[in-house]
Amino acid sequence: MSKFIFVTGGVISSLGKGIAAASLGRILESRGLKITLMKFDPYLNVDPGTMNPYQHGEVYVTEDGAETDLDLGHYERFTNSQMSRYNNVTAGQIYYAVICRERKGDYLGKTIQVIPHITDEIKQRILKVASVSKADIVIVEIGGTVGDIESLPFLEAARQFRIDQGEDNVLYVHVTLVPYMKAADELKTKPSQHSVGRLREIGIQPDVLICRTERPLSDQIKEKIALFCSVKKEAVIEAKDAQSIYQIPLEFKKQILDEIVLSHFKLICREQRLAEWEEKVVNRILYPKNRVKITVVGKYISLQDAYKSIYEALVHAGIANDTEIQIQKLDSEQLQHTDPAKVLADTNGILVPGGFGIRGILGKIKAIEYARINEIPFLGLCLGMQTAVVEFARNVCGLKEANSTEFNPKTKYPVISLLADQYDIKEKGGTMRLGAYPCKIYRNTLAYRLYRKSIVYERHRHRYEFNNAYRRILEKKGLVISGVYPKERLVEIIELKKHPFFIAVQFHPEFKSKPEQPHPLFVGFIKAALERASKKKQYSV
Ligand code: GLN
Repeated sequence: MSKFIFVTGGVISSLGKGIAAASLGRILESRGLKITLMKFDPYLNVDPGTMNPYQHGEVYVTEDGAETDLDLGHYERFTNSQMSRYNNVTAGQIYYAVICRERKGDYLGKTIQVIPHITDEIKQRILKVASVSKADIVIVEIGGTVGDIESLPFLEAARQFRIDQGEDNVLYVHVTLVPYMKAADELKTKPSQHSVGRLREIGIQPDVLICRTERPLSDQIKEKIALFCSVKKEAVIEAKDAQSIYQIPLEFKKQILDEIVLSHFKLICREQRLAEWEEKVVNRILYPKNRVKITVVGKYISLQDAYKSIYEALVHAGIANDTEIQIQKLDSEQLQHTDPAKVLADTNGILVPGGFGIRGILGKIKAIEYARINEIPFLGLCLGMQTAVVEFARNVCGLKEANSTEFNPKTKYPVISLLADQYDIKEKGGTMRLGAYPCKIYRNTLAYRLYRKSIVYERHRHRYEFNNAYRRILEKKGLVISGVYPKERLVEIIELKKHPFFIAVQFHPEFKSKPEQPHPLFVGFIKAALERASKKKQYSV
């Protein structure tokens, strides 16, 4: 039978609940337990697939093709659990399921209410994940902040869960903020007291408090929080701002959070340290030997979370190369009006990420042209591959008006277009090629040298494809097609013959990179960037 941990958040949003939940997962996994994680999002969208990245941050894609919250990315990066469409549940999905059942007449004329119908549906979703995953511990993160109207049904379901499952089988963790007041030179506990008070009104008494803070919590402060919030002193966990998110599991472990959880659940597990994680991940990040500068040219650059998995995958590749990655974030729209040499001359690698819509496309093309001509290592992801194809068609093959039909449906040379059976797509939600597909890799290519495999599985999220009608023309001029989706001969990977490192992929390798299993494309990219840096003696230390 599974045990359940609910993770809630108080005081403010963006406290890093997702990273706290993932780190907790990691330390419990280090005790030999099988864990899985779930995220409940209180908004009414069915999934974040159609939401603007400025509102929602990155859309994380799971192996089975669900468009999910970016916290699922943290869960997969920190732990061995594999996320699926069942691990991210929105209020929209819950209401949709209940209303559909009501329309079918399944409730036999009853009045449908938040309690018990919505709360029952929420509880069922948790139990389903527990039974499918066979996890020893299911960690359920509830999005939003305690006190929001929207998250009430989820908190009510969490409250009922302990009554249903028994005291020893459910644990409540509350992530809160202990702010530092400069004028008083003091850490303040009142916001946490209020936030726990709100939770108690709902009927939840937290067992563990994870306190986000800029400064260390003194014993005195811990005692005060423990007393006012009715939590044991050792269960007041300090979560101080860290240089790297990958330090958090170590910080939790130091404060024996794993022991606290295990003793609540009355579980006895083997002792194990996180030595490998510390040596091979954290120490490599904190004390790197080299440094490279990588430029990411995207249109959501101003938002920290929009390219989350890409930034993390770069860090992982940095770990593998003992290298610190200095990321230069370049707005593709601004680049349209700038001389690329001015902003790109000293970079060691250029990465063009995925995206939708025409805004900033010309800037991306400009960056790719600069990388191609100046032999700067280049990695293109999804839209980054599509724009690389457009750039090559326009500037190398002389097809001046080449374009993707996403940007010009009437283009003379539609080098990127929809497949014939996609033309009548009218709905926007869930109509893309999503999730993992096999990709066959041809020998004697850069892709093969990096992957060292003939078949890989990578995750997709796009509608448009490389148009095979232009394959020959582009290949003749030096474009190499090094990976395809075998069934339909869809182009998945392109590269350039006469270039030290130029590779672009139709899929999203960033979703599969982990600190201990960095993605080979990113590792190769950083290695090439490092080679360029050491040649130029610019950024290597
Ligand atoms: N907009 C492009 C498409 O739909 C690329 C999508 C992406 O980069 N994720 O095919």
